[in-house]
Amino acid sequence: MWENAYYGDYDNSDTDETKIRRHIPVPCRTCEAVLRKLTVTLYYCATCHQGFCNEHGNFAGPGRGRCIHCGPHPAASS
Ligand SMILES: [Zn+2]
Ligand SMILES: [Zn+2]
Repeated sequence: MWENAYYGDYDNSDTDETKIRRHIPVPCRTCEAVLRKLTVTLYYCATCHQGFCNEHGNFAGPGRGRCIHCGPHPAASS
């Protein structure tokens, strides 16, 4: 399923959002930075344009949402 995934660093000139819009999965940047774990995702944050898994963002619908850094935190954490 992830054979066309991009495993590189976040690229400002070709953001994770842009890649996901081309159906290229990217690593969750929070898993990568905090947990040193690779979680490939097709969700991106509409604010910072980075990829996030569904544990690290709030996603109302497919693809697009807001990561824990930019968006309202999930009710469970408050
Ligand atoms: Zn994650
Ligand atoms: Zn964000």
